[in-house]
Amino acid sequence: MQKEKTLWQKYRSIPLVYRIAVSFILGSIMGLIFGEAMVSIKFLGDIFIKLLKMIVIPIIFFTLIMGMKKLSPSRLGRIGIQTVLFYSLTTAIAILIGLFMANLIDPGIGLTLKTSAEISAEKAPGFQHVIMNIFPDNVVGAMAEGNVLQTIFFAIIFGIALAIVKESGKAKIKKIAELLFDLVETISEVMFKIVWGIMEYGVLGIFALMAGVFGESGLNVIIPFAKLIFSLLLAVIVHISITYLLIIVIGFLRKSPLSFLNGSKNTMLTALSIRSSSGTLPVTMNDAENNLKIDESVYSFTLPLGATINMDGTAMYQGVAAIFAANLIGQALTIGEQMTIVLTATLASIGTAGVPGSGLIMLTMVLTQLGLPLEVVGFVAGIDPILDRIRTMNNVTGDLAVTSLVAKLNDAIDLDSGTWI
Ligand code: ASP
Repeated sequence: MQKEKTLWQKYRSIPLVYRIAVSFILGSIMGLIFGEAMVSIKFLGDIFIKLLKMIVIPIIFFTLIMGMKKLSPSRLGRIGIQTVLFYSLTTAIAILIGLFMANLIDPGIGLTLKTSAEISAEKAPGFQHVIMNIFPDNVVGAMAEGNVLQTIFFAIIFGIALAIVKESGKAKIKKIAELLFDLVETISEVMFKIVWGIMEYGVLGIFALMAGVFGESGLNVIIPFAKLIFSLLLAVIVHISITYLLIIVIGFLRKSPLSFLNGSKNTMLTALSIRSSSGTLPVTMNDAENNLKIDESVYSFTLPLGATINMDGTAMYQGVAAIFAANLIGQALTIGEQMTIVLTATLASIGTAGVPGSGLIMLTMVLTQLGLPLEVVGFVAGIDPILDRIRTMNNVTGDLAVTSLVAKLNDAIDLDSGTWI
């Protein structure tokens, strides 16, 4: 008994993120070794994803209300504009980097297009539709469906109204409003404790997920697409290094890139494992709060928004995949066509949700726009579980980088604590 306890304590004394990293690698290796047999434990990984999804809406709701306590509507407006601006700008840069890498590596040359899948093109959501979708017609329904934008909207107006009541209501009501904020603060803390618990389970969950993926697909499926995977990976590494680390972290925050990566590693690993920005959100918020020391008045708003509208990796993939598709059919894309991709993919990434595989849906829009064969989507679908991981990891890192920048511009980040020192 005594011995078991010390073993457990030893295990717990290893930082969580290292335990998760080891389980990620071990799971992948076990999947490759034992193949199909490992698929039977994948459900343990699916439980991990369900647990994260379970906490997404409550954590957005309560932290945002807390955030509104400190934020005047005018400051919220300024933060909102800056956030959307930087999210769009970094996305456009990401696509340009993706196009550059794909032009350099030329993925798809030498492959022949073969697929039996019937693919239909999705339409890019129109501007009106995107705006309309922010407003819920039923608050409970929006939360029950896990609609992030609508939940953000309601939490913001609820928080602002509560802050107004706290200042201007009758004495008794003021007191209760104050109490309500205290209660919400406590619940937010509880949420972060739950996230921590879910991450502890994640050590097992991520092992199972990776074992399942590699057990199912193996390496053979991946090899023909090595150049495509490599182009995306390289573009992601360049984007993270130049745009986030060099420009934002070193240039604006004047901090070491390692301190940012150190503070974001839980988020990056979770995204790599579960392929969903929205699902990773509780962990992203946890890293912003506890490691990057960003004030909740900023991250409670920018991170849920980023998980929904900011997808640098996904948008970048559109560029890489379009060049791949053009090469498959032996047709070169003109500069004009490549610029169309920048515009279409930036807009489409705003309108597409951060869930597994949504990048593939976007690809149908981009291919249609360029008149490239939609069958390509069926062709790459088999390896999308791999590509999606790389894209999603980039997506969430971008959310944290832009959030740090916006926080810095608004004096809402403590660069003398957390992983910054
Ligand atoms: N899975 C990605 C995300 O959640 C979207 C995608 O590229 O498919 O951010």
